[in-house]
Amino acid sequence: MMKDDCIFCKLANNIIPTNSIYEDEDFKVILDANPVNAGHSLILPKNHADDLFQMEEEKVAKAYALAKKVAEAVKKATGCEGVNILQNNGAAAGQTVNHYHVHIIPRYKGDKLVMTFPQSTVTEEETKEVKEKLSALL
Ligand code: AMP
Ligand code: ZN
Repeated sequence: MMKDDCIFCKLANNIIPTNSIYEDEDFKVILDANPVNAGHSLILPKNHADDLFQMEEEKVAKAYALAKKVAEAVKKATGCEGVNILQNNGAAAGQTVNHYHVHIIPRYKGDKLVMTFPQSTVTEEETKEVKEKLSALL
């Protein structure tokens, strides 16, 4: 199902033309309009889902299998040194378009994308608590 006024629904379903590199019954893969590097691609499901939490598990598996295929093509086509596969959920996590999508980003040493994992201090008590909660949920 498409969602009204969703730009990625329109791109994924050929309502607005875009730089498409692959398509199957479930997904369209396009080039990002503001690429980090040439070949930066986005996997878009044809059916609308806001984010990972609204995706069927089977579709997530398919999206990730496709991400491997796209990453291999991006690596071959660009000769990049590395590839990031990134999927943001929620504004706090950097999601700007609320239609699930997977980024495949070709990377080079010293390129402009800066991704660091700054460490916070998490107490032993907090670790114990979160570990118990997570283990109970999984
Ligand atoms: P995110 O921050 O994970 O929501 O990423 C959204 C991505 O979509 C950004 O990298 C944008 O450059 C890209 N984007 C936004 N609008 C378009 C569009 N019309 N065509 C292609 N890519 C787009
Ligand atoms: Zn959509």
